Amino acid sequence: MVILSNLNVWDIEKKNFVKRDLELEIDENKVKLTQKEIDASDLLALPPLFDIHVHFREPGYEYKETIETGSLAAFSSGIFTVLDMPNTNPITDSVKAITQKKEIARKQDYVDVLIAAALTETNHTELESIEQHCDAYKVFMSESFGSLSISYETIERSLATLEDLMSVKPIFFHAEDPAILELHKNEHQHHRKRPEEAEASAIQQILTWSEEYPNLKFHITHISSNLSIKILEMANRKNLTLDTCPRYIYFNQNTKMDSNIKQVNPPLRNAVDNEILLKSLATGLIDMVSSDHSPHSFEEKQNNSISGMPGVQELVPSIISLVNNGELEWERAIEALYDLPTNLFNLPEREIDSDLIILNANTPVEVSKEWIKSKAKWSPYENMNFTGQMIYAVKNGKVVYQNDL
Ligand SMILES: [Zn+2]
Repeated sequence: MVILSNLNVWDIEKKNFVKRDLELEIDENKVKLTQKEIDASDLLALPPLFDIHVHFREPGYEYKETIETGSLAAFSSGIFTVLDMPNTNPITDSVKAITQKKEIARKQDYVDVLIAAALTETNHTELESIEQHCDAYKVFMSESFGSLSISYETIERSLATLEDLMSVKPIFFHAEDPAILELHKNEHQHHRKRPEEAEASAIQQILTWSEEYPNLKFHITHISSNLSIKILEMANRKNLTLDTCPRYIYFNQNTKMDSNIKQVNPPLRNAVDNEILLKSLATGLIDMVSSDHSPHSFEEKQNNSISGMPGVQELVPSIISLVNNGELEWERAIEALYDLPTNLFNLPEREIDSDLIILNANTPVEVSKEWIKSKAKWSPYENMNFTGQMIYAVKNGKVVYQNDL
């Protein structure tokens, strides 16, 4: 047993911190905590957080990441739930592949792994059974990593089927219009091959679909540009939610970073996009934030033109740093990483007395090779200093994880 006295506990209703003492059990096999009472007046207790967009690469690409290594990276930073994306091998587009991934995910108990099923060119006839097993759908409107692109015609057919099935599961869209990418495919620089117009045009299409299918739940993930925000500001969106990633707030084409390391889809944009995306997250125009953790081995990332970068472990400290810098309110940060994802997946709310994370918002976190838990062992955020690393994770009233600071 340990008593955390004068702890600042987030009150979901009041949307503020309230001072309280909290008595917790300790899992002595996992946590060495000898004090009976800790003065917790500097510590914050938050609900366990979500990352609604990760690629844990298993099955098929275990040399990049496994569900276990990715989950530990997430959990060590305060994330208890992730949505895993379907571009694994086999692709998660059938009941069999979903079941297989769930079995792998059950071997670790760090995080709850929700499974996104791909909507593909071939599986629209199997959606009735897939609907019983998946937690969300993912639509790759254009090629990214893995062969998953699907024609607009098949997307429409799949949406009509999901509407008939009265699906309430969120449909995640990677929004880049393949016709616009085709027009720019001979450009030399990655970000010119995939211009912001491609994202904007895809978003316009998704807005049309969201109006045609008012009972389905649409979600556009990893919004990267100011042009997209201009369109979304004007839109009437009742059944459409949005997220962006810290990389689109922290980095742009002028950031000093190797061009291969920088390569990601959609690409990094400009400083003005960083600013507008942060502002849109702060005002709530962008509902949520995700990492789009997409690890590759450092060798293949450095030597090949391959898109994607890690970020699951950096998600929480990068957002808390924005709060500490006065650029984001706590209320918005917790909404973006907890309340709205809970609603999106229709999950019950966590009881903050038994499931919570405890952190000191001011403790510096340096992203170093030693700190990184992802199997990739590299990060675009390497050598950056954040604040707000989780110290303890509590599940079912028991402290089950402690970070060395
Ligand atoms: Zn992704």
